[in-house]
Amino acid sequence: MKARLLQDEFGIRSLHDLIHNFPTHYIDRSQTYTIRSFRDEMPYLQVKGRFVSFTQHGEGAKMRLVGLFSDGTATMEIVWFKRIRHFKTAYNTGTEYILYGKPREFNGRWSMTHPEIDPPESATGAGGLRGVYPLTEKLRNQGITSRNIFQWVCNSLALVKIFPETLPPEIIARHRLMSADEALRTIHNPRDNDELNRARFRLKFEELFYLQLNIRRYADKRSTSVQGRHFPRIGTFFNNFYSQVLPFPLTGAQKRVLKEIRTDVGSGRQMNRLVQGDVGSGKTIVALMAMLMALDNGCQACMMAPTEILATQHYESLRSLAAPLGINVRLLTGSTRKKEREDISARLLDGSIHILIGTHALIEDNVRFRDLGLAVIDEQHRFGVVQRARLWQKNVIAPHVLVMTATPIPRTLAMTVYGDLDVSVIDELPPGRKPVTTLLRYDDQRFQVYRSIGRQLAQGRQVYIVYPLILENEKLDLKCLEEGYELIRETFPSYNVVYVHGKMKPKEKDRQMQLFVENKAQIMVATTVIEVGVNVPNASVMVIENAERFGLSQLHQLRGRVGRGAEQSFCVLMSKRKIGHETRKRLELMTSTTDGFLIAEADLKTRGPGDLEGTMQSGMPMELHVANLATDGQIVQLARDCVDSLLAADPTLTQPGHEMLLPELSRLFARTTDMSRIS
Ligand code: ADP
Ligand code: MG
Repeated sequence: MKARLLQDEFGIRSLHDLIHNFPTHYIDRSQTYTIRSFRDEMPYLQVKGRFVSFTQHGEGAKMRLVGLFSDGTATMEIVWFKRIRHFKTAYNTGTEYILYGKPREFNGRWSMTHPEIDPPESATGAGGLRGVYPLTEKLRNQGITSRNIFQWVCNSLALVKIFPETLPPEIIARHRLMSADEALRTIHNPRDNDELNRARFRLKFEELFYLQLNIRRYADKRSTSVQGRHFPRIGTFFNNFYSQVLPFPLTGAQKRVLKEIRTDVGSGRQMNRLVQGDVGSGKTIVALMAMLMALDNGCQACMMAPTEILATQHYESLRSLAAPLGINVRLLTGSTRKKEREDISARLLDGSIHILIGTHALIEDNVRFRDLGLAVIDEQHRFGVVQRARLWQKNVIAPHVLVMTATPIPRTLAMTVYGDLDVSVIDELPPGRKPVTTLLRYDDQRFQVYRSIGRQLAQGRQVYIVYPLILENEKLDLKCLEEGYELIRETFPSYNVVYVHGKMKPKEKDRQMQLFVENKAQIMVATTVIEVGVNVPNASVMVIENAERFGLSQLHQLRGRVGRGAEQSFCVLMSKRKIGHETRKRLELMTSTTDGFLIAEADLKTRGPGDLEGTMQSGMPMELHVANLATDGQIVQLARDCVDSLLAADPTLTQPGHEMLLPELSRLFARTTDMSRIS
């Protein structure tokens, strides 16, 4: 029955699973704390004392049992919300008990909820730090405690003579790692913090090592087995563009990234490169120049954007840049007419279209090129890996793939999520850009904010006002948006206001956006649908309502919609006045920096990689149990370096001492697809 519960609740099926279910924290059994010595932020700890009384409070779902517990130095409250009938009679007043838990202070009183409780004579078991395991509500209701789990783990550990080593001996020796056997035994019941840290380090390292090994092995396999187009020439398209058309000097970062691309496409291997650059860093021109390299070598190129508006904007700007060179650029989207579509199909096949720009429509099977040499994907995070794979299949020889994203991804995460892509960074904005000024304002200052907006409008500028739309509370959110829209219309009666949200039909949404693009409307009230999208250099104000409800990366993306013209731009973060300390810190970070990487790092630390914009779709290839990408950056790097030198010395992983690698890889990644095919 218990085994069944563990399986249902945690997916624990075997002894192996049980032992690999590591504690989330530890009780320090080496010392007993006194209640009087409790301070803020206490760890899980043990206290020895007696219950003075038990009283029941509240009714129904709010019912709770409170035991007053004294250790002679002071008293604290022990609170139970569940299984009250059981706990009411489980303990006696006057008997000595040992309690394990995390004290919290509430209204000047210390308390613990649902601590573990032992009679002192039974507490003689394990010394040192004892693992505490997460419990689900169901397990708790069944009366299973963390101590039960600890006991099962200990029993299981005793059954296993020795855990086989999973890392090569030379790596263990070089980095002075604990052995697998020692680490697995230690992690549940370390003697002290020192030992715990060494065990943790070993297990984290192992996890990240295999993650990297898996990624790098496929990347290597691909680069040696997948043939790529060879573009030996820089020809007239590129050179003429550079000398006659390019309207500004490239930034150093743009030049560097172009060189990296040039090296890739000239190598004979297929390029899979991710270009990261903050909004406005000038990725489009880099993409165009990469496409010119393809054209110079007799190939075609395409560029895929996530929305119709964005595709259209790319089309218009690239066409005007490419036209003087006699380059034929066409646009293909969901709303392209049948006749036009047929014409495009024919001309793609005969090669008279050089560059095709479009939306998802590009990856449909009936879109065939004569010879596609390079595919560019803009704003990566709206495309899944599967869609990338379909682009890949458009030629006998896979086209080079250039992925461009404005979502800065911290290095450790990029190494993991995009470990099979080479990464280039455009870390410099074109000169003369005025950084957006970001202000934090509270709801009661709305009137002043509107006055400033009025001044910008009077100068001919345009304004975005963004509302959060978070699904749990959709109705309420939409109401906020509608009320906001009405309020704005009343406040600025002499301007046109458009209203855009994700629930609208795409056609209608595009129509509204287009009005704003053409400055037929001066104010756009919207949900985050505008996050990826329009380029309106005349828009100089971005107001974000309920900014406290947005993630940092999302705020950064939104802010990137302004500051694209020559004017000083503003981003106003509107918030409730009453917000938590952490939230205020996050918003203040936004007002103090425009560095996307700094913001992404901070976001990763507070929200974890799962939530990070841009990684949702690509996803992690493997769930991490011990390592944390936000805080273990150094171990990620170490594991990466180890893997690189290992693969360099033993690409097939078959040398003596490496016997464990292949079986372990297939055990860990049995179900993942061959990543070399999807990028
Ligand atoms: P993003 O990286 O967000 O896609 P874009 O490619 O749209 O940025 O570029 C933003 C603006 O900056 C465009 O108007 C573009 O013409 C301009 N731009 C790009 N590179 C430079 C440069 N080196 N010098 C001046 N302006 C540039
Ligand atoms: Mg762009």
